Amino acid sequence: MKILAACPDCIQEASKDGKQPKFNPIAGELDDNGMIHVSCDRGHSGVVLYNARRYEVLVRSAARAALDGYTNEVVAVMSSALERIYEFYIRVSSRAKGIPEETVEAAWKNVAAQSERQFGAFQFLYMLDQSRPFKLEPRITETRNKVVHRGKIVREAEALEFAENVYGVIQHLQTELQSKFPQFVAEEVEREMKVQQSQVPEGVNHIKLSTTTVNVDKSKNEVTGVVTKFIEHVACHTSDARARFSCIASKIRPSRPLLRDGGFAQALVECLLWIDKGNSRGGWIVY
Ligand SMILES: [Zn+2]
Repeated sequence: MKILAACPDCIQEASKDGKQPKFNPIAGELDDNGMIHVSCDRGHSGVVLYNARRYEVLVRSAARAALDGYTNEVVAVMSSALERIYEFYIRVSSRAKGIPEETVEAAWKNVAAQSERQFGAFQFLYMLDQSRPFKLEPRITETRNKVVHRGKIVREAEALEFAENVYGVIQHLQTELQSKFPQFVAEEVEREMKVQQSQVPEGVNHIKLSTTTVNVDKSKNEVTGVVTKFIEHVACHTSDARARFSCIASKIRPSRPLLRDGGFAQALVECLLWIDKGNSRGGWIVY
């Protein structure tokens, strides 16, 4: 999957005099370990560690599929995103109960190949945490099964409705985790990033990249909050948004220092991408 990132070598070079480097976006390829492989036009090859949960990556992938009209892919990929937020919930909830990582890993191996088992594990952890059963709209499962198992060609309206419903569930679970277990969410994210970091080949320059998709009030040019709809993720990938990126990126500086603890490994690149959605709210992608 292609993701916009930056060249770690160019950032390091540009920062030699202690100044904040410009964010020069280039497309890289995201691999299964959360690493974006970039090659810039100056001949550098580097690695960008993508600080995003797997379900977030999948939502972005589904948004691009929706933009390109691949409705069945929207349903299939959003179904995967739903399964991955269940996994994230299981891992955070287990951590909150003091279960050692090795034990969770060993237990996960028994359910890793079967999503129904994972859903069962999630159901009961959710019930223990929230004192009520987790309810999933039957329509979500019905549409998923029709598309994934029977190859039904789904119409756009149904695919988008499915994606909005699933995105609503993802946001609901994110909110519940964040309000109940903020410390353990942070620890789980840190664990994921450590695993990613350990896989960077020796001597290869790397930086970290975080992205958030947010809305702006265009009249005030202010960020008003993170997006809450799947369709807003879709809007951020329009060709208009992409075309604007290059001119916008050069005017924006990272809002947080790139040079933390004197090292580039901890660098966080941020940038804003403005998109135009006609008369509705504009959107920004914060890098
Ligand atoms: Zn470079």
